[in-house]
Amino acid sequence: MTAALTADRPAATTDALPISVRNITKTYGPVHALDDVSLEVRSGEFLTLLGPSGSGKTTLLMVLAGFTRPDCGSLRFGDREVIRTPPHLRDVGMTFQSYALFPHMTVAGNVGYPLRLRKRPKAEIAERVERALETVQLGGYGNRRIDQLSGGQRQRVAVARAIVFEPQILLMDEPLSALDKKLRDQMQIELRHLHEQLGMTTVYVTHDQREALTMSDRIAVVNHGRIMQLATPRDLYERPANRFVADFIGESTFLPVQRKGDRVYFGDTALRHDMAVPDARELLLMVRPERIVLSPDGARDGANNFSATATDVVYQGDTFLLHAELAGGHRIALRGATRGVELSAMPSVGDTVTLSVAPEDTVLIDGREA
Ligand code: ADP
Ligand code: MG
Repeated sequence: MTAALTADRPAATTDALPISVRNITKTYGPVHALDDVSLEVRSGEFLTLLGPSGSGKTTLLMVLAGFTRPDCGSLRFGDREVIRTPPHLRDVGMTFQSYALFPHMTVAGNVGYPLRLRKRPKAEIAERVERALETVQLGGYGNRRIDQLSGGQRQRVAVARAIVFEPQILLMDEPLSALDKKLRDQMQIELRHLHEQLGMTTVYVTHDQREALTMSDRIAVVNHGRIMQLATPRDLYERPANRFVADFIGESTFLPVQRKGDRVYFGDTALRHDMAVPDARELLLMVRPERIVLSPDGARDGANNFSATATDVVYQGDTFLLHAELAGGHRIALRGATRGVELSAMPSVGDTVTLSVAPEDTVLIDGREA
């Protein structure tokens, strides 16, 4: 989210509780579902847990909600230690990986459930349910049955139920994974607006990197129950800390490089870069395909220039993809816009081409994959 949007948030949201997770471990037999996880979620932040299936995302969300007790560690909401607090006293709204709606109840029955659990008066329940339904654009749907709703509408009901008691913290576990792509794109924008409007501290789970980049203030990349990197979408994409993160987010080419003194070399070429060299056993140069420039007139001043042979050229509508082989047999991929490029200027297979990478796009990473 941009700074401007953050500044526009209503004043009522400034007291949203921050979350502090310290050294939380949860094992199931030999499986470390969570392996010494520490993380801070800022007040009012939209933070996403992103990782492959089985990486521990749901387990961490269940620990935050209070449905799973970790083996050890501490959990604070604001100043309050809540690790022993039962779920209904945590002031947390949650949507589950399956919608977990009650099929035999009406929409209003489902949305009002958390309030009935909290023994709120009937009139208040009716009013809050209608307000929550309006927030998710389902005003007037209270009397419908769940099985009369589309997937997107059910998802909205699940969100309405999570926010109906105006919790300080909202947790969402892959809420859009069952929806088709078009609806998912639309709901991503809706959920972002909802967050801007309500301002509660939000932890969102997805395995979809693009969804995470679209929605989040910051993203924690999770693998094998550990946090591989926690950063803004832009920093994750442009400065991934290790190969796992670089591989999981976006496309990339990795080339082996060597450190000699205070320079880093690819083959005989000393690289120009503007980042600190990571202290890693195996060092890699990462380049994103769209950050490589095809230089028809040879080397570019100030850039890293690589001579290569085109092995494959694919026209893909908005972009073209070029595969090329560098000295030493290393392969590299380049993606360019077709707009403004005359087709005749695109290289042919077998052509020698010069590929240029600016110093700011020359990213050195730790070769660690897990
Ligand atoms: P994710 O949500 O990222 O797909 P989970 O948190 O559901 O991952 O699971 C993390 C790991 O913990 C997986 O290996 C999973 O099989 C294991 N796990 C999760 N819950 C249980 C459970 N109740 N019993 C046994 N193993 C579990
Ligand atoms: Mg899960």
